[in-house]
Amino acid sequence: MTKEMQDLSKCAVHTITTKPWSIETAIDKYASMGIGGITVWRDTLTGRDPVLIGQQIKDAGMEAVALVRGGFFTYTSADEQAKAFADNRLAIMEAEAVGAPMVVLVCGAHPGQRLEESRNQIREGIEAVLPHAEAAGVTLAIEPLHPMYADDRSAINTMKSANEMAEYFHSPYVGIAVDVYHLWWDPDLEQEIMRCGKNGNLTAFHVCDWRTPTTDFLLDRGLMGEGCIDIPKIRGWVEKAGFKGFNEVEIFSKTRWEGDQDQWLKEIADAYLKSV
Ligand code: ZN
Repeated sequence: MTKEMQDLSKCAVHTITTKPWSIETAIDKYASMGIGGITVWRDTLTGRDPVLIGQQIKDAGMEAVALVRGGFFTYTSADEQAKAFADNRLAIMEAEAVGAPMVVLVCGAHPGQRLEESRNQIREGIEAVLPHAEAAGVTLAIEPLHPMYADDRSAINTMKSANEMAEYFHSPYVGIAVDVYHLWWDPDLEQEIMRCGKNGNLTAFHVCDWRTPTTDFLLDRGLMGEGCIDIPKIRGWVEKAGFKGFNEVEIFSKTRWEGDQDQWLKEIADAYLKSV
């Protein structure tokens, strides 16, 4: 066992995982558990000064790992496109303010629009905001989503597709977030993760599990170990590909959000130590 596997210093938690908590509560609770990182969802910053939140994260001894999320670059009108650019510039500014080195991109898709066209629009979108990301020192992390979201969330659905997009830019400020929930089924996953690492594009690793049956394709993600994903195997590939960052726990679960969040966080810590 490596040292990382025995403690939570390389564990980060997405604030959405404990959705009922405010950002202040999440910082306190995660830190008191010994969790090393926090990934900040933008909704938690409403009405807050992100600089102060960033300071609070540091004072608690944690790292801000990423800001979630930017993207949604696809459009059907010039107005929609302009709004998407503006929102992504804002996300980059918020990440910089909170001290997070990365914005995770859910890239976007439109039902009724060819996926190739959506991918062209995503490329245009990243191109447009990349100078802002570079100036802020913030990396844009493309997150490939499971194909069940190809209609309206993302036209980038495999690691291969994400690799192609990131390699087009060839920039230290464009990377990829590998999320086991979206990618576990892909027979080419190992080789595409290796390709990603080799090109210096592997910037994030997200974990949770796939429940059977899944009762809600957005809000019924599983706790690590309660589903069919071989997380240690994928983590092994990611580390072999050179990734040294945080293992980010990202679980949307309506059922868990209805329960006691302190108990939930304890279960997350146990599951992380056993099943990641
Ligand atoms: Zn994710």
